[in-house]
Amino acid sequence: MSVTAAATGAHPAAYGPDADALRRQDPEIADVLTGETQRQAEGLQLNAAENFVSPAVLAALGSPLANKYAEGYPGSRYHGGCEYADTAERIAVERAAALFGAEHANVQPHSGSSAVLAAYAALLRPGDTVLALGLQYGGHLTHGSPANFSGRWFDFVPYGVDAETGLIDYEQVRVLAHEHRPKAIVCGSISYPRHMDYAAFREIADEVGACLIADAAHPIGLVAGGTAPSPVPYADVVCATTHKVLRGPRGGMVLCGAELAERIDRAVFPFTQGGAQMHTIAAKAVAFGEAAGPAFAAYTRRVVANARALADALAGEGFAITTGGTDTHLITADPAPLGVDGRVAKARLAACGIVLDTCALPYGDGRGIRLGTAAVTTQGMGGPEMERIAGLFTEALGADADAVGRIRTGVRELAGNFPPYRG
Ligand SMILES: *Cc1c(COP(=O)(O)O)cnc(C)c1O
Repeated sequence: MSVTAAATGAHPAAYGPDADALRRQDPEIADVLTGETQRQAEGLQLNAAENFVSPAVLAALGSPLANKYAEGYPGSRYHGGCEYADTAERIAVERAAALFGAEHANVQPHSGSSAVLAAYAALLRPGDTVLALGLQYGGHLTHGSPANFSGRWFDFVPYGVDAETGLIDYEQVRVLAHEHRPKAIVCGSISYPRHMDYAAFREIADEVGACLIADAAHPIGLVAGGTAPSPVPYADVVCATTHKVLRGPRGGMVLCGAELAERIDRAVFPFTQGGAQMHTIAAKAVAFGEAAGPAFAAYTRRVVANARALADALAGEGFAITTGGTDTHLITADPAPLGVDGRVAKARLAACGIVLDTCALPYGDGRGIRLGTAAVTTQGMGGPEMERIAGLFTEALGADADAVGRIRTGVRELAGNFPPYRG
């Protein structure tokens, strides 16, 4: 007797990255995936928080580990059948700890925000005072926004950046720390283009008995490649994402010393999360494996070289580059000298297939633009392309309706020479 898949209740369509099966079953969503794949390939993806993960990472994400419930930690789960899930998580934890030289890694946070929530849960109580970069200077929502749990449950005191240089003013941080005696100091930003001085933050934290939380969501990929200083030797807890320059799946992680390991683990599960996403954890392990090799280190050097080249080229086009340049993958700029603000710039660039974000500008009104080179560098672009991109920016900002189509074609041609995925 032959038992068909349908007769036993199993999914008749294949699981995993079987595009044909998906198209037969659900053409509506298949169209979405095709359209999004094309959009990513035909435009210039300059969102500073995005990248193109490897096919190996995508394969892990699309695997049946997505089916597995695994509350708890390897060796002590609330569910049965976790032998492969346990192995995946053990490998991910070992690789993350080795990659960043940390005594302990927790790879379960569903996102960067979840990682920050867990760090606060482990170290703070509601009502505690926390010193963090103000949102108008590039702090993240989890650094005290009134729209976020952080602003509701903690008493955030913002520090800023120097009005002239755009750089963090460590003396101001010190003065505020002594004045407010925070329980924690947070260093990290969504748009700060320079390295942070983690040793200076540590010193200030020690002076006032605060703990130091580094939210390294952006630079952690550069840290993995040895292209940016590591917060791990300085911070009590390091929160990060795995999907930005690090080029892994969408998710978060927490790194800490052995003495905080148990508190962090309990803050992630069961305090702030339920079951771990095992397919994502397997994909994180794949990404950590990739990031440990020399090819990734070379990639991060190209990312920074490209960002510097693009910042220089944009300055040449008239953009006002915040801090005068960059140490990282990230550039923030004020397009005001070209007669537009960040919102208008973002919309005009998007009409030409150039994708980036607006950001707060430390001083002055209006918004700026924030962009990064992680994705275009993964595609293989280099110095000449950065110059071309800067030229396209100026053309796009000045374009009338006729010119938009022509520029869009130019963007498609440029991107088409550097496909993110082959075949
Ligand atoms: C991206 C980012 C986060 C949040 O990551 P999500 O995965 O979007 O929750 C937190 N902090 C900083 C500094 C970030 O750049």
